[in-house]
Amino acid sequence: MTAGGPWPDVAIVGGGIVGTALAADLARRGARVTLFERAGIAAGASGRNQGVVWYPQDAVLGSLYRESLARYRTLPDEVEQELPRGDTAASFRLADEPSGILLVGTDERWLRGRASAIAAANRDFRPAFVDAAALRRLEPSLASDLAAVRLDIGFPVAPAAAAGAFAALARARGAAIVEHAPATVEREAGRAIGVATREGRVAAGAVVVAAGPWTPAIVDPSGAWRPIVASWGVIVELALAEPPVHVLEEAEVDAVIDAGSPPGDAAPVHEVPAGRLGFSLVAHEGRASLGSTFLPEEPDPAAFAPALRDRGARFLPAIAGAATTGLRACARPLARDGRPLVGPVPGVDRLFVAAGHGPWGISTGPASAAHVAALVVGDPDPREPAVRVATDAARFGDP
Ligand SMILES: Cc1cc2nc3c(=O)[nH]c(=O)nc-3n(C[C@H](O)[C@H](O)[C@H](O)COP(=O)(O)OP(=O)(O)OC[C@H]3O[C@@H](n4cnc5c(N)ncnc54)[C@H](O)[C@@H]3O)c2cc1C
Repeated sequence: MTAGGPWPDVAIVGGGIVGTALAADLARRGARVTLFERAGIAAGASGRNQGVVWYPQDAVLGSLYRESLARYRTLPDEVEQELPRGDTAASFRLADEPSGILLVGTDERWLRGRASAIAAANRDFRPAFVDAAALRRLEPSLASDLAAVRLDIGFPVAPAAAAGAFAALARARGAAIVEHAPATVEREAGRAIGVATREGRVAAGAVVVAAGPWTPAIVDPSGAWRPIVASWGVIVELALAEPPVHVLEEAEVDAVIDAGSPPGDAAPVHEVPAGRLGFSLVAHEGRASLGSTFLPEEPDPAAFAPALRDRGARFLPAIAGAATTGLRACARPLARDGRPLVGPVPGVDRLFVAAGHGPWGISTGPASAAHVAALVVGDPDPREPAVRVATDAARFGDP
């Protein structure tokens, strides 16, 4: 298929943030789109995450974030222009200013060093060391022995809001969204020709797999190609009488997540040791979401709630007395080198992939969706060169 059309029928597998943003982008470009979601829209991490759009410290992911942020800024206008008024499923709006993120810890010397290291890597974060006295003024409910690094980033959002808005836009633009429809890729002579569902086969001119951590199993049912793994997180939702204004994160966990290496290095970036449990909290519109766990297998959320609450109460004592209002688990689609896989799948004509955004998919997924949309319709690759190399879906070899 080449630019100028005729646009292909495109089948998308997966209705998370990436799949829904892609459906909206492709439908805007005139493609006939059908999205197949095995459960409901945003049933995976895209509806169960911690709910903050934030700026990853990795340069490639940072570029995807900036592009996604620009996309989020235009989303409310698109929704307003293209959807009936009062469509609450599509309501999405980022605050004008970030709420700020506090990386909290007890070791002031280490935190000062962390602030300098972050400043050296990216001044956009505007990192500032906050000593214990200043922190008490900033967030009085934090434990009194803590200090912090404040980053001027982070927009809290309802976890499923962005995927819901993109799905509603996609429908308004003529895309079909089929829920409760697990799909597999149909191939013939080295080419993707459509998908198979319980209802039968659906032919398509191109297939995009945007199924988060389940993507490799759909692309390569043999199990040999596994560039993306699941890293499960448990979220405890709390009723906090006086929720913090800032997004809170245990500084040490932030440092582990950012154990980065430059693009092209063999060593993984954004790798958090499996089984790791740390503290993070995002409060938004009366909901406070407490994390974080990084687990290789699907957990029973109830089994992790006490440890998360204990850890959290060490940083924010009010957690000890707060009622639990919800409990959920979901899987981060973690690529082996920390960057998503975006574009054509090597060795299978007309099969594309867009997955592997790890802990940053709400913040970076819309950019990848826009990139793969351009590639599917045969437009020039819109990625800047460093992003193209780092997100090339062929870098882990043929499935
Ligand atoms: C605990 C936790 C907290 C997080 N917090 C944040 C945060 O605050 N900010 C942030 O930016 N990111 C956060 N993330 C990461 C973010 O949620 C993910 O990176 C993002 O949601 C991934 O989106 P996706 O569309 O790639 O995949 P998913 O959301 O996993 O969507 C994939 C979809 O594919 C469907 N599917 C699977 N197999 C099939 C099939 N065979 N047929 C049809 N459909 C199928 C699934 O049901 C699912 O709905 C968090 C993740 C976790 C786990």
